[in-house]
Amino acid sequence: MELIEKPEAVRRRARMPDYARARRTFTWAGARAQMSGLPGGRGLNIAHEAVDRHATGRGDAVALRVLSRDGAVDEVTYAELRRRTDRFANALRALGVARGERVFTLLPRTLDLYVVALGTLKAGCVLSPLFSAFGPEPVAQRLRLGEGRVLATTPRLYERRVRPQRADLPDLRHVLLTGDPAEGPDDGEEGCSALQHLLDAAEDGFTIPPTDPEDPALLHFTSGTTGRPKGAVHVHEAAVAHHATATAALDLGPDDVFWCTADPGWVTGTSYGIVAPLTHGATLLVDERDFDAERWYDVLAEQRVTVWYTAPTALRMLARHGAEAAHRRDLSALRHVASVGEPLNAEVVRWSAEVLGTPVHDNWWQTETGAIMISNFAGEDIRPGSMGRPLPGIEATVLERGPDGRALRTGGGVREVTTPGVDGELALRVGWPSLFRGYLHEDERYRASFADGWYLTGDVVRRDADGWYWFAGRADDVIKTAGHLVGPFEVESVLMAHPAVAEAAVIGKPDPVAGELVKAFVTLRPGWWPSDALHDELIAFARRRLGSVAPKELVVDPHLPHTRSGKILRRLLKARELGLPEGDLSTVETS
Ligand code: AMP
Repeated sequence: MELIEKPEAVRRRARMPDYARARRTFTWAGARAQMSGLPGGRGLNIAHEAVDRHATGRGDAVALRVLSRDGAVDEVTYAELRRRTDRFANALRALGVARGERVFTLLPRTLDLYVVALGTLKAGCVLSPLFSAFGPEPVAQRLRLGEGRVLATTPRLYERRVRPQRADLPDLRHVLLTGDPAEGPDDGEEGCSALQHLLDAAEDGFTIPPTDPEDPALLHFTSGTTGRPKGAVHVHEAAVAHHATATAALDLGPDDVFWCTADPGWVTGTSYGIVAPLTHGATLLVDERDFDAERWYDVLAEQRVTVWYTAPTALRMLARHGAEAAHRRDLSALRHVASVGEPLNAEVVRWSAEVLGTPVHDNWWQTETGAIMISNFAGEDIRPGSMGRPLPGIEATVLERGPDGRALRTGGGVREVTTPGVDGELALRVGWPSLFRGYLHEDERYRASFADGWYLTGDVVRRDADGWYWFAGRADDVIKTAGHLVGPFEVESVLMAHPAVAEAAVIGKPDPVAGELVKAFVTLRPGWWPSDALHDELIAFARRRLGSVAPKELVVDPHLPHTRSGKILRRLLKARELGLPEGDLSTVETS
């Protein structure tokens, strides 16, 4: 078994120096006691834990350090963040937005995103962040499902992603715009107003209303194999898990300069891109620009980043860029590097140990779990290629699978795999604070995610004899491209809206950098014939509607495989793509 051993000094300085002991002694009640709670015992509010509680004692500490597009570096203290988020909460009140109503963001990383996110939580509204590279259809569908009342976005994104579907969004009352007004609608048009005007007009000082820890706080959309996106609801109590897991898995504390590169539209970008670093009172780097290998190394070196949370795709791109760029910089401040969202290959862990001076620590979790569940820890050795072990407070297991690939449910419930190295569905014992509390409007789908007190994750894993977890794949057909979860059904539905397409099937095709890329197979309606022009037209059609989750590859295939009941077998298409055995074909008809 390959092991990357940690030197004694590294073990000792870790915030969780003894994993076995932490597992024995950790309690969620103890983790809850780390929160301050709203003054006067009025409950628990994420924004109070993230902002206000530091604003009194450590108001001058830097909460956000914003690296703006033009190269300027602006610092925002906790006191200033309090003032701005108070104003935004007051602005929502002035607009008549009620508690529990949903405020969506479709924003790149800018200071306003953090002000809107945290001000929304202060006001008792529910925050739903969207990925800013989504096209108009995914944006509109999520706004509709979530009955978005307010949307904060840029004039440019409004024009391109929202305006085309505006008539289908009757619940959307207020669009708050930040960015160049010349690129968007006029003030007042279609409920649009300039965010800055609202902030200027709003009062200073806001008292967070009593907040039940079980009040909904966050709504994150995620994708399944079938049907529409699922809206996972998280509550204010989730902050307890964001905070505790950031200590255990990210080695994060108040003196850190923390950089999370996740887009704010995905769950990592909220739990660890906003909440956890601020509940710790750390300094959070906000980088407005996109990936660029040389610049990223500059950021790590010049900003003296101590804890870095990023994604395997980005690390693979850095590794391709060559070690010399890292050697030219002083990365001595970098203490802990972690990644999440997709399988982390063992070579990247080794590369990081050599080039960055510390191995990457893989973490596993998903939208529904709200926080990191399985991790490689700062004070523990690493088995490259393994996702690690469950966090203190988290009980994981592997469940036997049935013919549909998911956990087998027999009359007596589910059965755990006891033999090491045998794969099954990863399940987690219910009972941690950031477990989702429902799929919006979909109780049946929610209930189906649980069996015998376990939450069923939909991932296939193996556990070795020492209790380390190894990722094997998804139990369903969802695709992970550059760390982003894509529901094949959503992509297929858009392709089928094109008049040439009779049927569509979408799979994840393995890719050395992005993990997987979205590949579509279509059959054509009578009267249409394959051609380069049609191929390009279909790709462009999908791209206009879906944005960055559109297929990168598309082939016309008149023989898509079906089950006897008529469902397309993506599993078989994928096996063919990989050149793998096609498995048990007894339920398959090739039309
Ligand atoms: P999301 O809900 O968008 O965060 O996606 C969660 C999914 O990403 C999981 O169910 C896994 O399939 C995948 N994933 C997350 N972390 C890892 C990891 N460390 N290794 C492999 N797959 C991962």
